Amino acid sequence: MHADLIIVGAGMVGSTLALALQDSGLDILLLDRGPLEAAPWSPEAPFEPRVSALSAASQRILERLGAWDGIRARRAAPYGEMQVWDGSGTGQIRFAAASVHAEVLGHIVENRVVQDALLERLAGSGIGLLPAVRLDGLRRSGDGWLVSLGDGRQLRAPLLVAADGANSTIRRLAGCTTREWDYLHHAIVTSVRCAEAHRRTAWQRFTDDGPLAFLPLERDGDRHWCSIVWSTTAEQAERLMALDDAAFAAALGAAFEWRLGAVLEVDPRHCIPLRQRHARRYVEPGLALIGDAAHVIHPLAGQGVNLGFLDAATLAEVLLHARGRGERLAELRVLSRFERRRMPHNLAMMAAMEGFERLFQADPLPLRWLRNAGLKWMDELPGGKALFVRQALGLSGDLPELARA
Ligand SMILES: Cc1cc2nc3c(=O)[nH]c(=O)nc-3n(C[C@H](O)[C@H](O)[C@H](O)COP(=O)(O)OP(=O)(O)OC[C@H]3O[C@@H](n4cnc5c(N)ncnc54)[C@H](O)[C@@H]3O)c2cc1C
Repeated sequence: MHADLIIVGAGMVGSTLALALQDSGLDILLLDRGPLEAAPWSPEAPFEPRVSALSAASQRILERLGAWDGIRARRAAPYGEMQVWDGSGTGQIRFAAASVHAEVLGHIVENRVVQDALLERLAGSGIGLLPAVRLDGLRRSGDGWLVSLGDGRQLRAPLLVAADGANSTIRRLAGCTTREWDYLHHAIVTSVRCAEAHRRTAWQRFTDDGPLAFLPLERDGDRHWCSIVWSTTAEQAERLMALDDAAFAAALGAAFEWRLGAVLEVDPRHCIPLRQRHARRYVEPGLALIGDAAHVIHPLAGQGVNLGFLDAATLAEVLLHARGRGERLAELRVLSRFERRRMPHNLAMMAAMEGFERLFQADPLPLRWLRNAGLKWMDELPGGKALFVRQALGLSGDLPELARA
């Protein structure tokens, strides 16, 4: 089988790229080891443990690709406020959408919901879908690539996009090197029901062991559910995972200073080791890495997939522009335009998260004083806060057309 472009990985990022190129006239194959059909939806379905805080920029991209309606038709929880505080001090900061005349700061959406809304759009798009196949071999052949699938089939294309996630097989097979930071942290994720409603606020407490986030969820108008991401040391995570639900709920409530009262119910818990990883290059001739295949960032700012959506929209824009000018899309000269636009932005976000992480992990008294004083100062500085809010909305920097107002 031959195509102009093969996208490996139909997660949120790979599916977005495919949709953004659906009218390009290119012959595109999108393959994934999972099924490529939206699952039947029930409004009473339990919450998925993996959620994303989607920025306004991501929302725009998804709206323009026609997937936002499918998300709203399932469920998405808008939030208009964010409260961040230091558990070992007095510093705290509040962000409000109203401060930049926006209605919301973002939406908390289950990853499955985003994925299914995208798959629904892909179904009628003319993109060639190859579900339930695993890429397990890759080599250069002539001017392009020869891709081997687990079922024995072979595919050929001059251009390959790796959207196959944090443990990207393509990145490994193509020999792309990465820089990695082990946080010695694990994240426990689950959904919990609290005694008090979340007031459409995203909450984050920096504990001595790492950040703990309570992100608002909504089901049938019930605003007592939150998705939690509790980043902590491997030993503490192991201890917390071993607790029964009642003991875990008590430990969680205490770690969160009971800001939403007692934790009444806890869904099944999952524990994910955290690593920050960044590919040294996103492109080589005939190959581009996007989304988690290119960069994995600490979840504390909830930016991972937002960066991935911007990668997908920018790469689509670069390819469409080059095609309009009759250029060869697989050429390094063309693909480097994508890398030049996205790498500085992704690196800046990763460096900021790294700085936050280190500052809040630091124990020496002067650093504790600094972060508490810093949070207070920032909280009282309207201009500085507005800058932060615009960053959280994803409305700063070099945005692709699909994400612009
Ligand atoms: C605890 C936690 C909380 C997070 N919270 C947020 C948040 O609030 N906001 C946010 O923006 N981000 C968040 N993230 C990050 C976000 O989940 C990721 O950035 C996002 O899921 C990456 O999407 P992707 O499409 O690049 O990769 P993936 O979702 O990993 O998709 C990769 C796809 O490739 C397929 N695949 C892989 N290998 C092969 C192969 N060999 N052959 C065929 N198919 C293959 C897989 O089946 C999969 O469908 C969080 C992450 C964690 C760990």
